Amino acid sequence: MKVLVAAPLHEKAIEILKNAGLEVVYEEYPDQERLKELVKDVSAIIVRSKPKVTKEIIDVAPNLKVIARAGVGLDNIDVEYAKSKGIEIVNAPAASSRSVAELAIALMFNVARKVAFADRKMREGVWAKKQCMGFELEGKTLGVVGFGRIGYIVAKIANAIGMNVLIYDVNKNEERAKEVGGKLVELDELLKNSDIVTLHVPLTKETYHMIGERELKLMKPNAILINTSRGAVVDTNALVNALQEGWIAGAGLDVFEEEPLPKDHPLTKLDNVVLTPHIGASTVEAQERAGMEVAEKVVKVLKG
Ligand code: NAD
Repeated sequence: MKVLVAAPLHEKAIEILKNAGLEVVYEEYPDQERLKELVKDVSAIIVRSKPKVTKEIIDVAPNLKVIARAGVGLDNIDVEYAKSKGIEIVNAPAASSRSVAELAIALMFNVARKVAFADRKMREGVWAKKQCMGFELEGKTLGVVGFGRIGYIVAKIANAIGMNVLIYDVNKNEERAKEVGGKLVELDELLKNSDIVTLHVPLTKETYHMIGERELKLMKPNAILINTSRGAVVDTNALVNALQEGWIAGAGLDVFEEEPLPKDHPLTKLDNVVLTPHIGASTVEAQERAGMEVAEKVVKVLKG
C-alpha cells in the first residue's frame, strides 16, 4: 500500500510508515494538477495546512482510505465529502498545545517589556531606554479566555510565574481551574479585572468577533491582549482603534483575520504591538509529535 506524503514530515514519522510495510512517496506541496496524478493509486495522503485535498482530488483516488493532517486545522480538506466516501480523517489536535502556550507566554513577556520595540530601536541606532519602561508579570492578573488544551497550559505556566489567574470558558471545570490556582468568572468580569487577556477559544459562530469595541473598552487602559487562537475571534478594526486611542496598552498577535497580514496593515504601524506570522505550532517538538501521531494513526487505519 502506498502513502503519499505531500508536505514536510518528520523523519521519525516516515520511519513509522516504512516499518509498517507501507511504501512512502514523498513530494513536497505538489500543485493540484500534480496531486491528481500522485493520488491515483495511494491508500493514504498526509498533508499539513497545504496542499488542498478537494472533492476533485478525492474523486481520482479510488483506493484512498485515510487523509491525515499532521497538525490541527482541517480547513484544506473537504472533510464532509471524504467522510461521505467512507474515507477516514485523522489529525493531531494536541501535538502543538505546549508550543502555542509557550508562544502566548513569550508574547506576554515581549509586550510587557517592549522587547521587539527595543530591538527595532537598537537597530536604528537609538538607545531608547526611557521609552522602554515595562512591568513584571508576577502579581498581575491573567485572564484566560478558553480553558481547553492550550488555555490550561498557559494558566499553569502563569500560576508558576506568580500571576493570579481568571478563567472564562463555556464549560465550567472547577477542578481543572483549581489545579492552576485559577478562578472561573464571566467574560465581562475577566476583561475588567485582567492585566493581560489571552485568547484560546476555537473560531466558531459564537466566538467570531467575541472581542470587539465593547469588550476592549471594558479592559483596563494598561492591559495587554494576546491572541494565538484565530484572527477573527477579535474585531481587528476595533483593536486598531483600541491601540491607537489607548483603550488598552498593547497586544501580542500570532493570528490575523487576513493571513498573511497585508503589507502596510495599520497593526504594523503601531509600536505597542508584537506580531508573529502564525508560528504557534512552529517548533521542532510540535512537528515531531504531530508527524509521529498521524503516522501511527495512518498505520492503524491501513493495517488495523
Ligand atoms: P480546545 O478545544 O482544547 O479548547 C478550546 C476551549 O474553548 C474549550 O475548553 C471550549 O469549551 C472553549 N470554548 C469554545 N467555545 C467557547 C465560547 N463561545 N466561549 C468560551 N469558551 C469557549 O482547543 P485548543 O487546542 O486549546 O486550541 C485553542 C485555539 O488555539 C484554537 O482556536 C486553535 O485553532 C488555536 N491554535 C492556534 C495555533 C497557532 O499556531 N497559533 C496552533 C494550534 C491551535
